[in-house]
Amino acid sequence: AKHAGRDTYRFFTAQMNADVLARLKLEKALRQAIENEEFVLHYQPKVHLNSGRVAGLEALLRWNRPGYGMVPPNEFISVLEETGMIVQVGSWVLAQACKQIGMWLRSPSGPVQVSVNVSGRQFLEGDLDADIIAGLARHAIPPGLLELELTETSLMANTERTSDILSRLKQHGVQISIDDFGTGYSSLAYLRRFPIDKLKIDIAFIREVTNNPDDAAIVLAIISMASSLKLEVIAEGVETAAQLNYLRRHRCDQIQGYYVSRPLPTEQVSAFLLQRNVL
Ligand code: C2E
Ligand code: CA
Ligand code: CA
Ligand code: CA
Repeated sequence: AKHAGRDTYRFFTAQMNADVLARLKLEKALRQAIENEEFVLHYQPKVHLNSGRVAGLEALLRWNRPGYGMVPPNEFISVLEETGMIVQVGSWVLAQACKQIGMWLRSPSGPVQVSVNVSGRQFLEGDLDADIIAGLARHAIPPGLLELELTETSLMANTERTSDILSRLKQHGVQISIDDFGTGYSSLAYLRRFPIDKLKIDIAFIREVTNNPDDAAIVLAIISMASSLKLEVIAEGVETAAQLNYLRRHRCDQIQGYYVSRPLPTEQVSAFLLQRNVL
């Protein structure tokens, strides 16, 4: 038994060592990725339920890692956030999105709104509002074409500074959306405190919305609250016609999800945008 115990212990430390080494290797590779510009943005369409027209696109980060292919964000975003590298990468994302909005604006696609995910840490370091306003000006973009997606958690982390930055951006015309709505632990008071335009219902409530009465109740409550507060409401993670029909029947404004389209590389987006009705 003693022997087995020692083996378990040895195995355990070897495993821990491997984890620490893998993490360090990942951090190092991410620093190189920033250096070598290995990040790319894919864009997922959002659609107006009443007209079937494209309402906008969400920019989603991908890491084109040499030897690994396209790495999805759940494999590296948390490392970027913990190390603070998200500030640099986030600022690249914003700059890249602005550049792309400008290109679509002056192409046959015409103006299209793009939303960008912003981490809480981006509000704490640097000059987020000045950077964004400069990015829009550089590409001569109407500020309403940029939307920021923020989570409840990131809003609650540093309320004073965050609300100052958001107010300035809002005054400038940038749109603000609450991502993963309903999953945070915050009070609803922040809906009055921050200049919010849109609520994005989390995929967790959409998945079983047509089967689970509790999820349906939450979704209906969010849609109704958004309507009372004159906020737009969008459902994410819509994968089936049944979910789409349910959301349409209950007057959700927009949907996003695999049912309409997966996130697409830039070249494929331009063709997608030329369609009149995508539903
Ligand atoms: P999110 O902001 O909630 O983005 C939605 C995620 O759901 C995306 O995953 C998208 O590809 C996926 N999705 C869309 N439609 C469906 C569907 O119908 N079914 C299912 N199962 N999934 C769907 P993705 O691209 O892997 O991004 C994951 C998360 O990484 C994002 O979640 C966001 O929190 C974060 N992220 C992505 N890009 C950025 C970024 O530029 N900056 C920051 N800070 N975070 C980012
Ligand atoms: Ca998002
Ligand atoms: Ca989300
Ligand atoms: Ca999410």
